[in-house]
Amino acid sequence: MALVNENFLKLPVSYLFTDIARKVATFQKENPTAQVIRLGIGDVTQPLAPSVIKALHKAVDEMAVKETFRGYGPEHGYSFLQQVIIENDFAPRGISLETDEVFVSDGAKSDTGNIGDILGLRNTLCMTDPIYPVYVDSNAMCGRAGDLKDGAWSNILYRPCNAANNFVPELPDRHVDIIYLCYPNNPTGTVITRQELKKWVDYALANNSIIMYDAAYEAYIQDVGIPHSIYEIEGAKRCAIEFHSYSKTAGFTGVRCGYTIVPLELEATTAAGERVALNALWNRRQCTKFNGTSYIQHRGAEAIYTPEGKEQIRATIDYYMGNAKIMREALTAAGLTVFGGVNAPYIWLQTPDGLTSWQFFEQLLNGPHIVGTPGVGFGPSGEGYFRLTAFGERGDCECAMERLTKWLS
Ligand SMILES: *Cc1c(COP(=O)(O)O)cnc(C)c1O
Repeated sequence: MALVNENFLKLPVSYLFTDIARKVATFQKENPTAQVIRLGIGDVTQPLAPSVIKALHKAVDEMAVKETFRGYGPEHGYSFLQQVIIENDFAPRGISLETDEVFVSDGAKSDTGNIGDILGLRNTLCMTDPIYPVYVDSNAMCGRAGDLKDGAWSNILYRPCNAANNFVPELPDRHVDIIYLCYPNNPTGTVITRQELKKWVDYALANNSIIMYDAAYEAYIQDVGIPHSIYEIEGAKRCAIEFHSYSKTAGFTGVRCGYTIVPLELEATTAAGERVALNALWNRRQCTKFNGTSYIQHRGAEAIYTPEGKEQIRATIDYYMGNAKIMREALTAAGLTVFGGVNAPYIWLQTPDGLTSWQFFEQLLNGPHIVGTPGVGFGPSGEGYFRLTAFGERGDCECAMERLTKWLS
């Protein structure tokens, strides 16, 4: 008799975005003439940069010729990409890395979801709350999160981030083994200062904990002085794994490419107290369960680092951040309390009149016909908040803000 992994049965039955899609579909059916504007999706809308397209085409042509055809690539990814990653994303920030520390992947969702494979199931967890649901669910699937009670998992120490603490999470008040941080943050759009990040690194070093640092929105940071990488903090190579993605940086959500840094000096402990290097374990895991990102994707990603590529992806990021600014200003002028949208493409607003996240969702859909994401879907501390994304078209964004302003007044 084949037994199922019962951990899957502990997960909430429905998925946030499925619930939203169903509610929107029902509304649209009952109101066929309503023009619904979607500001809920976490997907980009602008096409790939011309330099990337050119590089992808060229790589496809190489695959058509015997002499330049490529099959399976190197385990860590092609070195031409690893090199430009190190030279552009780390060296200018004073971080030196070896190519063996860079693992090219098909994106940050798989890597943040799979990284737990190399760590023991009895580790205790800490997550800022609200958070990108992949960290919670992937740990729940292998049993590491414990049991779900009243919307919270028993083996996760939640560190609330809300208006009351200005979105600065408190350090754990007890020992935890694995910590997930995401900055700039999805869903709140807030960032962490160097000083605050240093506290987490120091905690992890003192407690032999590992920090999983998701830097997927690093390219959206506008304020000088906000860290782009956790390795800007001294000692972080001994306690942190960092995840990067080209999805939001360069519109690669449909292309699929990212990378993960597992420093050579990073270690964890066996039950017997022996220290083991995690780089070797992650290498082994990837070699066994992942056969790499295609040569074509690699060439597309490499093009992001050319002078033209940099300029083109910057223009798209500026476009999205322009949307964020329009939204922030309009929402604030309409009397709402908003966070984020300055160093990240997410606006996190406090629902008015003490409405729950889902009540506000319903009202926004029925009133100005705008779709957003209920904050509670990202964790217990998201209740009373609502996420809007800046990844839409400028026209939609402006139209949505006009409708919302009228509706609120
Ligand atoms: C979008 C997103 C990612 C990117 O995932 P990919 O698999 O690279 O597309 C990673 N982390 C967070 C927090 C995200 O919002």
